[in-house]
Amino acid sequence: MLNLDSHPRGRHFLQIPGPSPVPDRVLRAMSLPTIDHRGPEFGALGRAVLAGMARIFRTRHPVVIYPASGTGAWEAALVNTTSPGDRVLMVETGHFASLWSAMATRLGLEVEVLAWSGADATLPNAPNWRHGAPADMIEARLAKDSENKIGSVCVVHNETSTGVTSDIAAVRRAIDAARHPALLMVDTISGLASADYRHDEWGVDVSVSGSQKGLMLPPGISFNALSPRAIEASKHATMPRSFWSWDEMVAMGKDGYFPYTPNTNLLYGLSESIDMLEAEGFDRVFARHKRWSAGVRAGVEAWGLPIQCADAALHSPVLTGVILPEGVDADAVRKLIHQRFDLSLGTGLGKVKGRMFRIGHLGDSNDLTLLAALAGCEMGLKLAGVKLEGSGVQAAMNHFAGHPASA
Ligand code: PLP
Repeated sequence: MLNLDSHPRGRHFLQIPGPSPVPDRVLRAMSLPTIDHRGPEFGALGRAVLAGMARIFRTRHPVVIYPASGTGAWEAALVNTTSPGDRVLMVETGHFASLWSAMATRLGLEVEVLAWSGADATLPNAPNWRHGAPADMIEARLAKDSENKIGSVCVVHNETSTGVTSDIAAVRRAIDAARHPALLMVDTISGLASADYRHDEWGVDVSVSGSQKGLMLPPGISFNALSPRAIEASKHATMPRSFWSWDEMVAMGKDGYFPYTPNTNLLYGLSESIDMLEAEGFDRVFARHKRWSAGVRAGVEAWGLPIQCADAALHSPVLTGVILPEGVDADAVRKLIHQRFDLSLGTGLGKVKGRMFRIGHLGDSNDLTLLAALAGCEMGLKLAGVKLEGSGVQAAMNHFAGHPASA
């Protein structure tokens, strides 16, 4: 039999940018017995988590929960709002934006990719993957689309492959400034519940998210938050869809039920996680992630290694991408760190494979967890022969000690 609990002594350090470490409270909540998903207790649970998720997305409009990973919710966003051959503008900020683009192409949409092309194109490590979504370029492109052929603009809020966030309110302003009717679809799979996010206020039409990041749950459920315009668009969209179709989900969701068998035990976990996040308060949750991010950033800067996010103001609160010197295989360093110190780091994805690794700072963590993760990295980098300018652990300790979390 496969032994799933084969860890050596102590705890494993899961410092990838999702799945994030799951709090014991959430694990305990998920161990409750599975109930009848058509019964009255389930309706109460369904209503509670749907209302809670609407508060987390900051929307007054419907939220849909799928028993699927985030990729499913990406597909749901596309198939509910488009017809075959429609044009979508995909803003390429990193690997996940590219994957969403590839999905749109496979679904038979006409995909136009827009990538940042700023002045410092000499930056190492995929320069156009080191910045946020370029609102000015989006506005210029839409202004040229006089026949309104572009039906949607798709943007990733927190690019998990690079550790760069995008200013979603600025993207909405760009669409409005171009007086363009395109829908705004946003992937906040790794941003939601760690970084500030406002579906209604930012004029997002479809928000896409997942369970295994800021919500601190295992993978397995994902979300769409809808706007009235998105719901209207879905009534005319002719892309074939069944499992992902919003209409029945929204109708049954009003009473807390699902058209098919939901992921009941993950919903117990979700209810617990919503309680935990709300008890802490969202502003504190966001400040906590920002503080962690600043501490890890201080650590990487002390090593003298470049950070994948070239714009400090857009540095993700959820993860930090660490670029290794030319000639050093980042995956070999990751492997060594995993073998020697039982610490998992995120691999470089797509264009930056082998050139960088990612440190996740989200989920059930604290200052000392992050210091331990930095210590594992620092030891591993030295063992791999990477020359470091100074101690990242010391710099992060100074940062955390000097910036107490707000009470
Ligand atoms: N989008 C982003 C930004 C992600 O980080 C991920 C997963 O890490 C996905 C999409 C795909 O989600 P999933 O792997 O849950 O299908």
